[in-house]
Amino acid sequence: MATPGALTAWKMASDGHRSGRGQAAVTAAGRRAAAPASTVLAELLQAAGQEVPAAVALRRELHASPELGGHETGTANRVAAALGEPGAPSVTTGRLVRIGAASGPSVAIRAELDALPLTEQTPVAWASQNGASHSCGHDVHLAALTAAGRAVRRAGGPLPLVAVLQPREEGYPSGAQDLVGSPQLEAQDARAMIGVHVHPHVACGQVSVGPGPVNAAYDEVTITVRGRGGHAAYPHVTRDPVIAAAHVIVALQHLISRRTDPMHPAVLTIATVQAGTAANVIPDHVVLTGSLRTFEPTDRASLRSAVGATAGATAEAYECTAQATFKQGEPVLDNDPALAAAVAAWLAQAGFQVVDSLRSCGSDDFAYYCPRYPSLMMFAGVGQPGTPDAPGLHHPSFLPREEAVEDVARVMLAGYVAACSVVLGT
Ligand SMILES: [Zn+2]
Repeated sequence: MATPGALTAWKMASDGHRSGRGQAAVTAAGRRAAAPASTVLAELLQAAGQEVPAAVALRRELHASPELGGHETGTANRVAAALGEPGAPSVTTGRLVRIGAASGPSVAIRAELDALPLTEQTPVAWASQNGASHSCGHDVHLAALTAAGRAVRRAGGPLPLVAVLQPREEGYPSGAQDLVGSPQLEAQDARAMIGVHVHPHVACGQVSVGPGPVNAAYDEVTITVRGRGGHAAYPHVTRDPVIAAAHVIVALQHLISRRTDPMHPAVLTIATVQAGTAANVIPDHVVLTGSLRTFEPTDRASLRSAVGATAGATAEAYECTAQATFKQGEPVLDNDPALAAAVAAWLAQAGFQVVDSLRSCGSDDFAYYCPRYPSLMMFAGVGQPGTPDAPGLHHPSFLPREEAVEDVARVMLAGYVAACSVVLGT
């Protein structure tokens, strides 16, 4: 694990960093420089503190005028301008803002641009009125990244920072797929990708971070059960797909409880059932949709196969048919062990208690960065003690307190410094 004391050879904003001469030049410049890395983070945190009032005001502004996935141009323009680069390159409706040397290795931090199609239910004067809502905290992430980026611009840093303003985190196809492999992001020469998400299940003052998988792989399933419709008074001349679908739902429940290693987290949820149009008509088909969440690649493959086989065989017992189709979603969000180990000391220096409490079958499209870059997702606590029933992520009343902007900025800077330490090998 890297510690502040182990990093003694950085110089803030050295001439070498700004020269754009590539990794060798950057590394040499970093190593010959003088400032201890613990000082680097301290100076960045102090600089970020000066940016906080403007960042809190920006958070309110973004919160009041949220934009849905695929329509985030105004948000992206506003944040790019706040970061001092209104002409920063675009990737679909996203933006990439680079701070520091124009070329050579960098560290990237992702923040999401999009809001949810929810009618906000909070009492603040700056609540959204347009039918969309930042009920996942992305407004906080954007404002925090602005403070962190401006701090690096103000105080300098061991490597350039690339603010990845990513579209469509909440929708499909995921916006992260726009960026991964894009020429614009490849040109940034990012050597690490950092993400921070506010989380109400983690207490204020804590950050949950750990190595390896922290979020599940996600697939959507649609099962179509077909029978033969007819008059509800004459079921014997029909093949009722509603009865068959009901048994399919029940039969699928054994796939996690009896066909999956109990030490492997997995969830199969059937969430929608659509059938029929009248109380006295047996329909000819039923459509079920749901989600499969897994951590092990072998479980992902075997459960997809088992869902189709179980649905088909069960429906057949009722002289119906069932066909399952899958839409593949995010891979597992797999934190890089070196980054996870390195960041702990920096988070402690920034005043946070580090825990490894939050691993869930939730999903985030940050996972798409993990196969391409050493990546690290951290969950910044916004939970208040004694309020277990407080609104959670995606609830129309979810509203992290304003101090979360500075907290997330400090977590981002700790992640940035940790990533620099790993990339520079110090
Ligand atoms: Zn989110």
